[in-house]
Amino acid sequence: MAYHAIIPAAGSGSRFGTELPKQYAMLHGKPVLQHALDRLQQQFPLDRLYVVLAADDELFDAMISMTAIVTPLRCGGATRGASVHNALLRMTDVVDDDWIVVHDAVRPCVDADSSLRLQRELATDGVGGFLALPVTDTLKRVDADARVVRTEPREGLWRAQTPQMFRHGVLRRALALPGQDAWTDEAQAVEALGLKARAIPGHAFNVKVTFPDDLAMASAIMVASASRR
Ligand code: C5P
Repeated sequence: MAYHAIIPAAGSGSRFGTELPKQYAMLHGKPVLQHALDRLQQQFPLDRLYVVLAADDELFDAMISMTAIVTPLRCGGATRGASVHNALLRMTDVVDDDWIVVHDAVRPCVDADSSLRLQRELATDGVGGFLALPVTDTLKRVDADARVVRTEPREGLWRAQTPQMFRHGVLRRALALPGQDAWTDEAQAVEALGLKARAIPGHAFNVKVTFPDDLAMASAIMVASASRR
């Protein structure tokens, strides 16, 4: 039973508001994607790591350092789900029980303890799961004018992060289902298959770089985690 990883990095980063897609923004001397790639290789016993790029990506070759297990695939799709599915279809030497670890290119701060917990907790699981955190804020549903319609109960609600880790056979069947365009993570595809992915507690430091302020947050987290070691 082997571990293979996919990093979808084919997003244009339109919410980030810069010319440079957010996965290539510099953070402590390295692109955000390089941090994600390095950490995934340090934290999982990977056989292979596939990075999904947009067909017209010109930055990966110039900015990213690879190891022998890394393969860039220029098969990015219109959505994240399509990008991951395209990579799965191109993978060879994979059996149904193998683990597929999917990690956002824009989560540069994932911590080793959480990744280890994910692997340990799911070791004998037939489906898989993902890092997540219980919601602690009060949740408001608002209308188009940002006026409160109602307060939603937060009990039982978790915020899904990555890495997400599923058996290859499960993920392959899930991503082949119709609905791919609406899914924002792999767990949602597995849900559509009628299977129950497990939420494994992650860490608040595992932020996703979506807006420019998130980069400042990621930078502060890196400083804070280095001083705790
Ligand atoms: O857009 P979002 O922030 O949800 O993107 C999450 C991850 O999915 C990013 O790493 C992004 O590069 C990737 N992605 C992709 N193909 C797309 C859209 C997003 O690989 N079409």
